[in-house]
Amino acid sequence: MIVPFHVSEMLRRVRRKIAQSGEMPRMAPRPDDSRTFRIAPRVTPETVARLHRDLGLDDTARAALFGPGTQEDLPRYARNIENMIGTVALPVGMIGPLRVNGVNAQGDYPVPMATSEAALVASYGRGARAANRAGGVSTAVLYEGVLRSPAFVFATLLDAGRFVEWVVAHVETLKVAAEATTRHGKLVSLEPVIDNNIAFLLCRYSTGDASGQNMVTIATDALCRHIAAECPIRPTAWYVEGNFSGDKKASGLGMITGRGRKVSASVLLPGEVVTRLLGTSIDAMLDYARVANLGSLLSGQLGAQAHYANGLAAIYIATGQDAACVAESAVGFTRMERREAGLFCSVTMPSILVGTVGGGTGLPTQSACLELMGLKGEGHGPALAEVTAAACLCGEISIVAAMASGAFSGAHEKLARLR
Ligand code: NAP
Repeated sequence: MIVPFHVSEMLRRVRRKIAQSGEMPRMAPRPDDSRTFRIAPRVTPETVARLHRDLGLDDTARAALFGPGTQEDLPRYARNIENMIGTVALPVGMIGPLRVNGVNAQGDYPVPMATSEAALVASYGRGARAANRAGGVSTAVLYEGVLRSPAFVFATLLDAGRFVEWVVAHVETLKVAAEATTRHGKLVSLEPVIDNNIAFLLCRYSTGDASGQNMVTIATDALCRHIAAECPIRPTAWYVEGNFSGDKKASGLGMITGRGRKVSASVLLPGEVVTRLLGTSIDAMLDYARVANLGSLLSGQLGAQAHYANGLAAIYIATGQDAACVAESAVGFTRMERREAGLFCSVTMPSILVGTVGGGTGLPTQSACLELMGLKGEGHGPALAEVTAAACLCGEISIVAAMASGAFSGAHEKLARLR
């Protein structure tokens, strides 16, 4: 039997640790939590200074975390954080302007990407140049709906069934209760799912221009409280989220029904663009794409794509989206097919969670990034989702070309190591 090296190495370290006392050393419980940082929701220069003192920060660390810009903008950060000690800076690179011919986005969009991974912006930028030479990316939001999935627990399966019967009969009243909490959130569907004595309610909302996670939580809480007050079939317990919605995790449900906005983006690359700009050929890209699809299948990936997470994380951070949502957004399908005299490339991403209002979109640098895209504020949510998918398509085109031509490693070496 082969014992993998990392197992024997792990055992060696554990044995060394337990050598003296025979068990893993543990620190004593800390009964007095006076040295634990209390959660202070209010953020002021004084609360920041107190935390700096408690942490024993030296002048260099203090200046790096809490420079003049951050000090000046403190009130703008205060709504989005507790126990604030400063800000971290990430470089932001730019690709494009990327031409997008979308149902919602129409024009040339500079796309800001915040990342510390050298070569990432260059790669997405190369994909954007290729797409632009082909006339731009076509995009469409196919549907939208942010899910919350409250769960109601009953004594028996029969009670869960009677409960669902009541919910179905009162769905219009429940919609009113949920929508009373928001001007823009609309309950678009409510689907019950029973697992023996537990009933989940899949509540799907459109959320205007916001990404909408807070909005749907608040609306669903109101819906649940209405049920708890009015429904004669009493649950033994209920929870506003039964962990069915796919919030912040990749899930089969999210991939098929979507969470947030489902967007398709595509472009037909002429052969000449593939050869001249991407330094490879259509056949070579298709050959690699076949292998990559097999790799996706063999590894059990949800969907089949190369690196949506790179583009999503960089755009989410730059534009003030919740970066943790990359976990659910980075699923979907990339397709490459020979069509007419070119290479048809498309991405379909079912769970893009972006907003142009709310969340972190009002933070100083994030707001500036949305501004430069021309997508800040009311009326731009669906367009931002389409531009995000279009940028991810550019990343897919570039990485497949780099793998096909053998340039992938060299490009990283040149841009990440040799500079
Ligand atoms: P939000 O900032 O909590 O809410 C958006 C606000 O914008 C609402 O007050 C909404 O008012 C208002 N609004 C104004 N114009 C709008 C327009 N044109 N379209 C839509 N809304 C408009 O943000 P959110 O998008 O609901 O939630 C995003 C945040 O939730 C992120 O920061 C994320 O980190 C966090 N999050 C929360 C949970 C959770 O379970 N609570 C989970 C994951 C992430 P109306 O409501 O009156 O329309």
